[in-house]
Amino acid sequence: MYKQKLNYSPIEQITFEEHAFYLKRDDFLHPDFSGNKARKFLYFLQNDFPSIKKIVSYGSIQSNAMYSLSVLAKMKKWEFEYFVDHIPDYLKANPHGNYQAALNNGMKVYVGQIDTRFHEDKSIVFIEEGGRQKEAEFGIRQLAQEIIKWQKEQQIPKLNVFLPSGTGTTALFLQKNCSLLHTDEAFQTTVFTTPCVGDGDYLKKQFLQLEDDETLHPNIATPDKKYHFGKLYKDNYKIWLKLQQQTGIEFDLLYDPIGWLVLLSHPEIYSLPTLYIHQGGILGNESMLPRYQRKYPLVSEK
Ligand SMILES: *Cc1c(COP(=O)(O)O)cnc(C)c1O
Repeated sequence: MYKQKLNYSPIEQITFEEHAFYLKRDDFLHPDFSGNKARKFLYFLQNDFPSIKKIVSYGSIQSNAMYSLSVLAKMKKWEFEYFVDHIPDYLKANPHGNYQAALNNGMKVYVGQIDTRFHEDKSIVFIEEGGRQKEAEFGIRQLAQEIIKWQKEQQIPKLNVFLPSGTGTTALFLQKNCSLLHTDEAFQTTVFTTPCVGDGDYLKKQFLQLEDDETLHPNIATPDKKYHFGKLYKDNYKIWLKLQQQTGIEFDLLYDPIGWLVLLSHPEIYSLPTLYIHQGGILGNESMLPRYQRKYPLVSEK
């Protein structure tokens, strides 16, 4: 039996581009999980599943979810099988980042489609891509509780919360649980997010798959341009470097640059006290940063 509690993650004050923000350090939650994946997989971490022997999931070959599942499987002494469309040759020859770390934890990778028989096997936990599933609500409710407790202690009647989305699971369950937990009308917590995968319509569809009641959905702030997930953009690299210079904090290179670009272009959000959630994912920078440095050697790191 392996049970583990998550720490309460601290909230700090930072100044970025001359604006004050609060920052929830979910990157400190657990040394071996990417912050928000620790929230999403907490249900599996904290409960016992005596008949389970294996985790099966699928997605991209460098994903934070994949790495976090490899950690979970290792802690639980379960096998972990992961399905991908494709493994690039250079990565096979030179494993690094999340892929390397997950292999070290015993992950078995398969190229191809998942066998549908997995869904019926009672000894298998099947995890959707990026952990987009109902069980994620368990850990994200705890995040909502921590935020509301802090908000009340600080006497902030109206708080805006901002976080960038992939599947949108974290943002959705966060807004839902903040709304449901507020019994006191004097306090209000409004969640804003932005799509880093697909566009606003895609994100809305993701929300609807997890929750029919649209009054419980987060607000979507749309980026000025369309990003292709995992591609390199000069402005993203620049804002990531600026964040590091001005706050001394390392953010993730896939989601956070888009998150901060969009947040800074929406003063109506940060005109109220705003809490940005640092969702971890730093291990993924190991593969992204060298790509940025090669592509934009003239963008200064100093
Ligand atoms: C997975 C991840 C996200 C996206 O979370 P969703 O719940 O899929 O929206 C954002 N940031 C980081 C660092 C992540 O690892």
